[in-house]
Amino acid sequence: MSATNRNPDAVSVIQELYATHGQREYSGEAVTSLAHGLQCARLAETNQAPPALIVAALLHDIGQLIDPDAWDETGNRLMRDLGHEETGARFLSRWFGPEVTEPVRLHVAAKRYLTAVNPDYRAGLSEDSERTLRLQGGPFTEKEADDFLALPYAKDAVALRLWDDAGKIKDAETPDFEYYRPVIYFVYSDVTKR
Ligand code: FE
Repeated sequence: MSATNRNPDAVSVIQELYATHGQREYSGEAVTSLAHGLQCARLAETNQAPPALIVAALLHDIGQLIDPDAWDETGNRLMRDLGHEETGARFLSRWFGPEVTEPVRLHVAAKRYLTAVNPDYRAGLSEDSERTLRLQGGPFTEKEADDFLALPYAKDAVALRLWDDAGKIKDAETPDFEYYRPVIYFVYSDVTKR
């Protein structure tokens, strides 16, 4: 898709998705999907992440919002939503480059990586995250871990993953989605200039 064919109002489309679906419970945790994304973006920001990684952190679970099959009628996440990282990355690729889409696509693999190389990390996983880890294939083997780390943006995905795990605090104070519009727009326009 050429840059000129990209939807000029990516930010509004994305914001609308979070406004419509963001109040769902995030993956068996005490926060909504929107609150979770905002907490992750905040953590990215406070860790001086570059703008693209802040956007990736904010939107890393967007695949759970755009896949209607990922939710049951009461709004709870279904077990079969196991490809949300791919769905989300594909969705975002119409507007953003790999600096955004790759950390999103790799954030589940990053968990499999981290559980392989760091037992303390695994011990700290939430119950739901441990449950989905098993469904996601479990910790990587040593070879898989090495292969993962050699991928472009693997380190960004690992950073994102750690914010992902930390961004599940009930009632944590964060800026609202509106606050992140300029950075989403900035990263989006950066791509359209290429
Ligand atoms: Fe997440």
